[in-house]
Amino acid sequence: MISSSIRHRDNVGSPSGEPVRLKPHLLFLLFVILLTPGCQQTPHEYKRTLLVFGTLVNITLRDVDEELAQKSFEQIRQDLELMHFLWHPWKRGPLGRTNALLATGGWFSVNVSVLPVIEKGRDLARITNNLFNPAIGKLIALWGYHQDEPPTGPPPSKEAIEQLLAQHPRMSDIEFDGLRIRSRNPAVQLDFGAMAKGLAIDRVIDYLRRQGIHNAIVNAGGDLKVTGSHGDRPWRIGIRHPRKQDGVLAALDVNDGESVFTSGDYERFYEYEGRRYHHIIDPRTGYPADQTTSVTVIHTNAATADAAATALFVAGPDGWQAIARKMQLRYVMLVDKNGRIIMTPAMAKRIALTEIDNKPVVIEP
Ligand code: AMP
Ligand code: MG
Repeated sequence: MISSSIRHRDNVGSPSGEPVRLKPHLLFLLFVILLTPGCQQTPHEYKRTLLVFGTLVNITLRDVDEELAQKSFEQIRQDLELMHFLWHPWKRGPLGRTNALLATGGWFSVNVSVLPVIEKGRDLARITNNLFNPAIGKLIALWGYHQDEPPTGPPPSKEAIEQLLAQHPRMSDIEFDGLRIRSRNPAVQLDFGAMAKGLAIDRVIDYLRRQGIHNAIVNAGGDLKVTGSHGDRPWRIGIRHPRKQDGVLAALDVNDGESVFTSGDYERFYEYEGRRYHHIIDPRTGYPADQTTSVTVIHTNAATADAAATALFVAGPDGWQAIARKMQLRYVMLVDKNGRIIMTPAMAKRIALTEIDNKPVVIEP
């Protein structure tokens, strides 16, 4: 940057028409500035991959000096680890304590790191007609997804599933009184797995902006949010093909402040006697939602995009529009169990599918 400005001045010349000649001591000063670590000039790009939140998180920062980039990576690592601990559905921590106390039916003071998550979860459950239902923690545990390793079959018994369904756990069972909450329904067990990554990514992007970093992307296993741009073009991403290992379904330019979230049946699943049992459970049936393979949503709020992708996955090719309308979503793409691609007109305008022979169905929500 500095050296190019010198060249520039050399080319332009002095007002008198004579080339500008820098005095030797100024030249020396410039060398010192250029060689001093941490004083790199823009544009600079720094990348870091963190193993946190149960996934690989790729962060790219642009137009930032190295010192701030390294400090930010370390802070983000610590913040993500903390959020993972605070909101973890089955390990001992604040949400674990909340779940234990919800089961008693009595009033208790909830940890302030968990309360806003419960409130956001309640709002998103309401607007998705409970297709995103973070109160079904018991059901998710029954399916074997409350462990780090992939579960193995057989699937739970019909009776066990029906017994949990009959208790109708819902976010609306939770009553609020300042910092105190209680559940009128002891079957409510919170699992924010369908929203927590979004909440965390929103926080990370907010943090970066507060640090003065305005061009960045935070990508947690394909779910991401951006701020600013990638130089003179938007950030460009690929959306994973739900059935092709390492294949790309579509490419997309992501604008300042947007997040892109995808829910897929390929993320966590096991197969038993030829059937796939994945981790996105339809709270109406108690079984993995079986009409969809993936849903992608773009929204400025990552937590909303995250919960919406899960809810629309459950809603499926016949039900997604009602929820998308209610949530006022503009950008949705759904791949159904037969590989048919359905999307909103706004999504169709900006997404580039890689398979040209698979013509999408474009429908207004
Ligand atoms: P996602 O990958 O964002 O769709 O989130 C899936 C995770 O959310 C699962 O691993 C479960 O922990 C949880 N989950 C599954 N089904 C639902 C549902 N219908 N509503 C809320 N959370 C769910
Ligand atoms: Mg989700």
